[in-house]
Amino acid sequence: MNAGTLSRGIGMTSERTRRRLIEKLREQGITDERVLSAMTATPRHMFVDEALSSRAYENSALPIGRGQTISQPLVVAMMSAAAMAAPRREKALEIGTGSGYQAAVLARLFHKVFSTERIGELARLARQRLHALKIHNVYARHADGLEGWPGQAPFDAILVTAGGRIPEALFEQLGEGGVLVAPIDESGGVQQLVRYTRNGDEFERENLGGVSFVPLLEGLD
Ligand code: SAH
Repeated sequence: MNAGTLSRGIGMTSERTRRRLIEKLREQGITDERVLSAMTATPRHMFVDEALSSRAYENSALPIGRGQTISQPLVVAMMSAAAMAAPRREKALEIGTGSGYQAAVLARLFHKVFSTERIGELARLARQRLHALKIHNVYARHADGLEGWPGQAPFDAILVTAGGRIPEALFEQLGEGGVLVAPIDESGGVQQLVRYTRNGDEFERENLGGVSFVPLLEGLD
């Protein structure tokens, strides 16, 4: 490896590169400074395979194996910002740990983060990365997220990072005033990012924009 390769290698994953991504998110309408600083502090290149780390600060989804993807930074920012509407920031639940990146960002915004992943190998890798980064307030387990995490409910925020139909169990595990943020399949194969806010037994719905997530599937793998 010559000096050029070396400096490029470091450059692409440096804090400066990360800051450039944050500026792009700002330009695209992300204004919550708490979210922007959580993302500034979270090294996305640590959540993808080394061969892809030079692309970690592009605003795009990237493959993480097993046909799954780490979400696009703009989408992570949108979902995190939407979750900040929760009245308390004690407990968040994520369905679809994937790489662990969204959980790592949430770990800076919520006191405790519970995250479930249906693919055992991804759950194991995500746990390893979070451990290496000394993030100790994320509890990640290999489980079917369609059941939520009843033993830890109620949650202030629930983020579903795979697209599909939201099971009743997740609405039930939302605390009063809590928010559930999820991509919902609409007709014609398009997905809409939606935020539901709990008010007693009512759930107020807001559309946050079009998105594209891998499907929410049932059962373990
Ligand atoms: N939040 C992730 C992106 C995940 S992609 C990140 O930051 O990297 C969506 C993930 O949801 C995939 O890993 C997929 O395996 C997982 N998934 C799909 N259905 C699920 C279910 N029922 N329970 C738990 N995880 C699920």
